[in-house]
Amino acid sequence: MEPLPKLKIPERILLGAGPTNVSARVLEALGRGVVGHLDPEFLQLMEALKSLLREAFCSKNPITFAISGTGSAAQEASLVNLIEQDDEVVIGVNGLFGSRLAEMADRFGARAHKVEVEWGRIIEVEQIEAALKRCRKPKLVAVVHAETSTGVHQPYVPEMAELAHRYGALMVLDVVTSLGCVPVEVDQWQIDAAYSCSQKGLGAPPGLGPLTVSERALATIRSRKTKCRSWYLDIGLLERYWGQERLYHHTAPINLNYALYEALRLVLEEGLAARWERHRKSAAALQAGLGALGLKLAAPEGFRLPQLTSIRVPDGIDEAKVRAQLLKRFNTEIGAGLGPLKGRIWRIGLMADNANPQRVLSLLDALEEILREAGLEIPRGSPRLAAESMIAEGLN
Ligand SMILES: *Cc1c(COP(=O)(O)O)cnc(C)c1O
Repeated sequence: MEPLPKLKIPERILLGAGPTNVSARVLEALGRGVVGHLDPEFLQLMEALKSLLREAFCSKNPITFAISGTGSAAQEASLVNLIEQDDEVVIGVNGLFGSRLAEMADRFGARAHKVEVEWGRIIEVEQIEAALKRCRKPKLVAVVHAETSTGVHQPYVPEMAELAHRYGALMVLDVVTSLGCVPVEVDQWQIDAAYSCSQKGLGAPPGLGPLTVSERALATIRSRKTKCRSWYLDIGLLERYWGQERLYHHTAPINLNYALYEALRLVLEEGLAARWERHRKSAAALQAGLGALGLKLAAPEGFRLPQLTSIRVPDGIDEAKVRAQLLKRFNTEIGAGLGPLKGRIWRIGLMADNANPQRVLSLLDALEEILREAGLEIPRGSPRLAAESMIAEGLN
């Protein structure tokens, strides 16, 4: 037999909406030998992971672990464990991931009261309250903290949680793109379930979905009248594997857990506050450079995510061609628009290690070259200089 072609994977610069690049230390951890999922060393690692995840979530919740599955699995886990047939739920929908929350809640038998606003806008506290008032007995409120499809940073999360509790409901927060990039304070904000992923702000490979659940949510789970509709994502069963009982449930993706552990060590060695600040500064530099290129940002000012910048595609520019050129000539991936924003925006992620000046400057150089060739009129003044002056300011 002819030898089959060897695995060929380029080393890309990942500046899209995730996954982001994984550092050498994390890749090294990923490549360690497999051990049994009940090996005493692995059990110790699971304990350590729980405590590092608690730090990352700013929470003391005993039930904090990584779902074996991507962010979407952790998203489903949050809803499927809390929802029973015909429960009323309030879901904020201002982008793709909010609409997924509503779709999932519907599949799990809930009656979803959607608070729908135009993609790219924030959800107001009053809108959540109006929806809560329409419910007879609301079970939960769920919103997306960092709406990756639009680049919008949802404010007022603590206010929404306070409101949910006042109406006897739980607060669920999607922090898939926010954990590790911007403040996520689960306990202080009184969040009852928050879920994330491994491959965005935490800088690990995709495949795990960190999840944390409050005592209040746990009480709801424990007092269910019906069994959780998902066996794989049943927190009651997972608790017996991740807790002291160590009861076999499924085979954890061993190596992904090594990688997440190492990625979390990097996050906490840097310190959460320093990491949030690094993301903020990198985005400020990127946005200054984009402004000098004459590009307009899509998310409203004051509500822009540092880790994900959405940019309006200028008239007359072929959106997909610019991305293709970036990939082909500069080995760099950026994201496209989704749903109603398809063809209308680009999405640039600066997550984990990629939130750094070098990445910003090389991307701006590449974009300038490609956009000039595409015939875009670029105002006088250098994007690189605009970004550099922001970086210099940040260093003061
Ligand atoms: C990426 C993302 C998800 C889904 O995560 P996967 O790891 O792709 O399954 C959910 N919510 C938000 C806000 C996201 O950005």
